[in-house]
Amino acid sequence: MTDCIFCKVVSGEIESKKVYEDEDIVAFHDINKMAPVHILIIPRKHIPTMLDVDDEDAPLLSKMHQVAVRLAKEHNIAEDGFRLVINTNRAAGQAVDHIHLHLLGGRKLGGPLG
Ligand code: AMP
Ligand code: ZN
Repeated sequence: MTDCIFCKVVSGEIESKKVYEDEDIVAFHDINKMAPVHILIIPRKHIPTMLDVDDEDAPLLSKMHQVAVRLAKEHNIAEDGFRLVINTNRAAGQAVDHIHLHLLGGRKLGGPLG
């Protein structure tokens, strides 16, 4: 997808502070962080929303979560606690149409959600 900013992050066309990458996944610091640790974990594959996830993408979704947990441990927020969020469509606040898992932590996170 030529117009997608996260595809451009994946390709390196847009600079990012990457903290992890492999053949399927890229993770980088959110540019407008909402918590002391705020990392986005995305697939290299362009999937617009959770509504577009196919059965064949299930291992990818699982891997995104595994990477998030690993990064939570590496950033020392695992024990205190962290939150994983995927916003879907506008009412939920999805601003970038390339699925991304938010990893948030490093402070007391308010609740209930929203
Ligand atoms: P969402 O609102 O769930 O779609 O989240 C999009 C997130 O992407 C927001 O938290 C933005 O701050 C973040 N974001 C947008 N552009 C960039 C970028 N170039 N690098 C890093 N984070 C970005
Ligand atoms: Zn994309």
